[in-house]
Amino acid sequence: YFFHIGRICYKNEQVGGFAPPCAAKNQKGGCVMKKEGPKNPKKAIIYYYIIALVVLLLLNALVFPRMMQRQVSEVTYNQFIADLDAGKVSAVEENESEGTITYMMKDENGRERLYRTALINDPGRVDRLLQASGPDGAAVQFGGVIPTQASPLMNLLVTVVFPVLLFVLVGQLLMRFMMKKMGGGNAMTFGKSNAKVYVEAQTGKTFADVAGQDEAKEALAEIVDFLHNPSKYNSIGATLPKGALLVGPPGTGKTLLAKAVAGEAHVPFFSISGSEFVEMFVGMGAARVRDLFKQAADKAPCIVFIDEIDTIGKSRDGAAGMGGNDEREQTLNQLLTEMDGFDGSKGVIILAATNRPETLDKALLRPGRFDRRIPVELPDLEGRAAILKVHAKKVMMDENVDFMAIARATSGASGAELANMINEAALLAVKQNRRIVRQEDLMEAVETVIAGYQRKNKVLSQREKRIVAYHEIGHALVAARQSDSAPVTKITIVPRTSGALGYTLQVPEEETNLLSREEAFNKIATFTGGRAAEELIFGSYTSGASNDIEQATRLARSMVTRLGMSAEFDMMALETVSGPYLSGDAALACSEGTAEKIDREVLAIIRSAHEKAAGILAENKEKLHELANFLMERETITGEEFMEILHRE
Ligand code: ADP
Ligand code: ZN
Ligand code: MG
Repeated sequence: YFFHIGRICYKNEQVGGFAPPCAAKNQKGGCVMKKEGPKNPKKAIIYYYIIALVVLLLLNALVFPRMMQRQVSEVTYNQFIADLDAGKVSAVEENESEGTITYMMKDENGRERLYRTALINDPGRVDRLLQASGPDGAAVQFGGVIPTQASPLMNLLVTVVFPVLLFVLVGQLLMRFMMKKMGGGNAMTFGKSNAKVYVEAQTGKTFADVAGQDEAKEALAEIVDFLHNPSKYNSIGATLPKGALLVGPPGTGKTLLAKAVAGEAHVPFFSISGSEFVEMFVGMGAARVRDLFKQAADKAPCIVFIDEIDTIGKSRDGAAGMGGNDEREQTLNQLLTEMDGFDGSKGVIILAATNRPETLDKALLRPGRFDRRIPVELPDLEGRAAILKVHAKKVMMDENVDFMAIARATSGASGAELANMINEAALLAVKQNRRIVRQEDLMEAVETVIAGYQRKNKVLSQREKRIVAYHEIGHALVAARQSDSAPVTKITIVPRTSGALGYTLQVPEEETNLLSREEAFNKIATFTGGRAAEELIFGSYTSGASNDIEQATRLARSMVTRLGMSAEFDMMALETVSGPYLSGDAALACSEGTAEKIDREVLAIIRSAHEKAAGILAENKEKLHELANFLMERETITGEEFMEILHRE
């Protein structure tokens, strides 16, 4: 593996640079970009109903039947005769099949109660009953008079209707509560927007929390100023743009900036994510937009912030071919209508953020809507140092930490990644029972983000260790023996979770913005250096160069297709880049024949770079042995140690 830190840009277009290998990519920002809000409430409601149903069935089977039966006390037959003779019994019921006699009588408190006794074969009983008199001298009612069950209607009411009503009611309350918690309405309140109102104190962010991004801050400060004294602008006849669109790669602080505006502006701040518009019911999105703007108009001056606007603002053409998405389209149309509808001088300003501006519908971008674009780019050297400092305030940091050095080693990293690194460093310090975060922790955190975690218990065989050591030294030697190449700062053969068995780190002394043809070629030669060393020393090679191959090919390909660095194609653009802020995926834009020629050209570049690397290593075979042995012994060596041995006679 070979990691060249350093953004090599051509007009801010990233080629190479801070690009962790795939395994490391997964954790990119993974820790920093937590999704806010509770999980899907709809699921919770379904669970609730399932549980409710089970409880209901249990109640029906076990509890209700007893509840429905009237309380009956068991007594002896003698007691029954005695009560009958005493004239206390008012009604009697015999049940042949159950063999019981049930009778009704008032207890001491004067309440009518049921008593039960065994049905004993007593021939005189019928006469006795006919002759007996109940309380107040009335005849004792006999047979078919005592209902032991409540009426069927009552039964139904108590066992079915009432519990179901109860559960539905509780469920509704629960749903409403959860919807409110995530700032939404429910089916009952169709079309209420679920925008959360952030008042300044609630976001708690100010411009001071956003490091770097001075241009973006300046543009946003103007908006804040307008909300504070609109007369200053109105008197001169200037109207501020209705909307501003924050565009930039993920993790550069777009959402953070919007929150900071809310904190600075001291006006109501409505924040909603584009994905929240497209939800649940058809037509909801449009209704939500309508409601959001109605609320905003009531609360003016205020700011409406739509995060990830690309989810609703996607270009409408093209979508139709794939069956279309009417719902999204309706929402977008409503948004366009609303943006036209309100009067900018009222003081409603719409901010939106996206990292895919190229997918946005043209209508959204025309003047009068989001006509102002505020780029929020990846931070430069100074910016990275500033971001590191802002986040370092939250942890106990050693006073002697050199943030500039860390910033230099993290070219191409976003604000979110830098914040993540500080946190990783703090975690490392805790792991080692230290109270304070040191420079080494930060450097280790940087490497963790680039190459993954160390795999201390992965044991390489002596033979493999030798191969890896020669491979890495091969990279380092080729890099060091070419002019204008950045110094190697670290070489290691400690395996990492990204799959790297070892790697060489090269950190440029200063940030470069341009890449010359020679530099690009030299970089490819450096990538091939690992494999070249294996070939030279072992006469064979291994799979260890897979990542190098990928990187070399990517660079060689962009040299040919995008940077105009091949003799064959001159300055012809052969690829169009889609989504420059995301993966930077490029699509070939040329004929099939040309594609074939491109492949040949790419191969030619890589082959000649490989030959160059092999030549350099053959010339420095002695040093290669010496350095590789040293690396095998130490496992990790610094750039200084490497240079010391390289320049030793
Ligand atoms: P985006 O919306 O552009 O994808 P966020 O605003 O969500 O990125 O940024 C994610 C996190 O990264 C922030 O919460 C913050 O901790 C950190 N961050 C990003 N940019 C900056 C910056 N310029 N200054 C300070 N912190 C930053
Ligand atoms: Zn390699
Ligand atoms: Mg964001």
